[in-house]
Amino acid sequence: MAKKQFKAESKRLLDLMINSIYTHKEIFLRELISNASDAIDKLYYRSLTEGNTGLSRDDFSIRLEPDKEARTLKIIDNGMGMTKEELEKNLGTIAKSGSLDFKTEMEKKEDVDIIGQFGVGFYSAFMVSDKVTVVSKAYGEDVAYEWESTGADGYTIKDCEKEGNGTEITLLLKADTEDENYSQYLETYQIKNLINKYSDYIRYPIQMMVEHQKLKEGTENEYETYSELETLNSMIPLWKKNKSELKDEDYNQFYKEKFYDFTDPAKVIHTNVEGVVSYTALLFIPGQAPYNYYTKEFEKGLQLYSSGVLIMEKCADLLPDYFSFVRGLVDSQDLSLNISREMLQHDRQLKAIAQRLEKKIKSELLSMLNTDREKYVEFFKNFGLQLKFGMYDKFGANKDAVKDLVMFYSSSEKALVTLSEYVSRMKPDQKYIYFASGESTDKIDKLPQTELLKDKGYEILYLTDDVDEFALQMLHTFEEKEFKSVSSDDLEIEESKEEKEAAEKQAEESKDMLECMKEALGDKVAEVRLSQRLKSHPVCLTAKGGLSIEMEKVLNSMPV
Ligand code: ADP
Ligand code: MG
Repeated sequence: MAKKQFKAESKRLLDLMINSIYTHKEIFLRELISNASDAIDKLYYRSLTEGNTGLSRDDFSIRLEPDKEARTLKIIDNGMGMTKEELEKNLGTIAKSGSLDFKTEMEKKEDVDIIGQFGVGFYSAFMVSDKVTVVSKAYGEDVAYEWESTGADGYTIKDCEKEGNGTEITLLLKADTEDENYSQYLETYQIKNLINKYSDYIRYPIQMMVEHQKLKEGTENEYETYSELETLNSMIPLWKKNKSELKDEDYNQFYKEKFYDFTDPAKVIHTNVEGVVSYTALLFIPGQAPYNYYTKEFEKGLQLYSSGVLIMEKCADLLPDYFSFVRGLVDSQDLSLNISREMLQHDRQLKAIAQRLEKKIKSELLSMLNTDREKYVEFFKNFGLQLKFGMYDKFGANKDAVKDLVMFYSSSEKALVTLSEYVSRMKPDQKYIYFASGESTDKIDKLPQTELLKDKGYEILYLTDDVDEFALQMLHTFEEKEFKSVSSDDLEIEESKEEKEAAEKQAEESKDMLECMKEALGDKVAEVRLSQRLKSHPVCLTAKGGLSIEMEKVLNSMPV
């Protein structure tokens, strides 16, 4: 009785597990291939440590055999295999990981790179299969065993024949449609696709017979079909190769293929970090902004790999928003994955990686700014807006990370300049960093408010994006210099004694006229004053308080 009750529970558990821990059914192939790779690793390590197996690395491979007629997909490896007890233990017990046991045992001695650890990946096969058959022969044993299950109803084990060691898994795939004999997972392109996506960096060749067409000999337009054994994975990830072996062209091609871009990246960052958390990162700064970059559809994130297996397609936590344009990947063995391997359990390691990446990206951008200005300006035209948003976003929490990277158009340089360049050119008596806001640099250049400053030889930053002034306000100061709008009430320019006296005298003389003007304008203005800042224009508007007129316009146009 008690036993029966327990069976019902484990049935439900299996069901729950199969259908709820994975978001994508397609990962079954990743899981089974990872297991095959683990099984080969185990035997390979044994051959290294025992030295008498007569096996070399080249002897190992993983084979895929789709059979459309039978609607089956076979995954075959020549790894360690399983004894009857191991089949029972590893496949008959949910959450039992033979690989974890192996790893715990080995880790004391060697640096092993085994993927498995949770003892559930195997069961993902039931998401896409009506029946799973495992034929396995442990290395060094004579007998093979067949384990078979349709999922919830339990399993059977019996003796069987098998040549050579290893495991052969046959999935009777569920039919995708009413067409009883169709499953997308039998299509060559789909299999290639999944290997490419998840298992491209498995260290052993994943092979499959692939059909090709070729011109029949002696004919001009008759074709014949032939099959060829193809290796579907590239095995060694580009980022695991030595930097000195890699050319710009290799990186560029990798980037374009992997991230579907037509343009070469503006910058490649390839970094290997050993430490509390070890990882390799391969990052790219795109040569142009993706068409949807400044829209809600755009999703930031880096690919995350664990021991060469893709865990997450877009891990957002690895990038701060202001560097959301960066594409690339991180590969680390030190991540604690959760059971579905689609999420991470503790983000402590992830945070550590993210922090270091942020520093790295910033320093690479600064070095680009210093060594290849033209390129940097091009970069800034693509992604500068995002950096400026970053300065302003989160109440300026990240302003210090970005302030050295932003540029604005300069009245005197007629080009984009950084804040620190502006400050380095400030006059000895200059108190403020002056800026003027407007729609375009041309329009700003004609503003009467800029005349006096220009005349006195002060540099002015022209702000043309809505976010610019907010960003500067958030920064408040740069190298202890405050910002001041050219339209602010008082520009606080040093005046000589004579200039001051002359101005006071003129104001006194014009008092009646100014009062008359104020009367005529009424509530539309707060005050009418004589101004020293005008040279060729008769009149200009200034703003009381901190906000510039342009910023008030932006605020007024915002929905309330
Ligand atoms: P994990 O891989 O996380 O350990 P799985 O559910 O994927 O969990 O697999 C359970 C166990 O079954 C593995 O740990 C391993 O011991 C065994 N196993 C699965 N597939 C194979 C295989 N192809 N060859 C040998 N052993 C395997
Ligand atoms: Mg596994």
